Amino acid sequence: MNLAGIGMTSQRARLRMLERLKEQGIQDTRVLAAMSAVPRHPFVEESIQPRAYDDTPLPIGQGQTISSPYTVARACELACHGQDLERVLEIGGGCGYQAAVLSRLAKEVLSLERIAKLVGKARLTLRQLRINNVLMKNADGSKGYAAAAPFDAIVVAAAMPYIPDTLKQQLKPGGRLVAPVGAGESQRLVVVEALAGGEFQTRELEAVKFVPLLSGVS
Ligand code: SAH
Repeated sequence: MNLAGIGMTSQRARLRMLERLKEQGIQDTRVLAAMSAVPRHPFVEESIQPRAYDDTPLPIGQGQTISSPYTVARACELACHGQDLERVLEIGGGCGYQAAVLSRLAKEVLSLERIAKLVGKARLTLRQLRINNVLMKNADGSKGYAAAAPFDAIVVAAAMPYIPDTLKQQLKPGGRLVAPVGAGESQRLVVVEALAGGEFQTRELEAVKFVPLLSGVS
């Protein structure tokens, strides 16, 4: 892979992407710094690299897409809410881009992806970028990953019909889960906060469009 590839064009495009993110309302300076530090073009095929910094989802193979920069930044901002994070779980790792952004906001990122081919590619890209605190696993993440819980944040990148209790239980007190919830065109971004004492507070935010969460590995 040619990481220098689109060189200065990519630098300028990335700066424009950051300006756009601020205009779109992303305020968390750590999230903006992470979006600025992680190049997006190495995560997509060379033929679409010139579009890597546009505000649009892009194909990553296997019928899946990398979410738009705004969607990634928004989910990270909601998940972190200005805190330093220890351990984060991502469900739906795809090409590894969001995991790479999260790797700059947390000490450790565990990312689950059900499609083995995507896991292989994502691991390679992360290694080439020398990102060592992301563990990508080929696993069905519908129920989270209890063995590595609790997490400071859980970020779900595929639409769930509802948020299972088992997933909420994997949050630390004060931790947050961000997930698209709903089917087809009627999905909304939902934030669940684990309060002290085992209670959860749920907020429904804007309408969103994600690929559906599927079960099993392939
Ligand atoms: N965060 C990703 C976006 C990937 S799109 C990125 O930055 O590229 C959502 C991904 O969720 C797809 O790759 C899809 O294969 C995966 N997915 C769907 N259902 C899943 C499940 N049950 N467990 C793990 N991954 C799942």
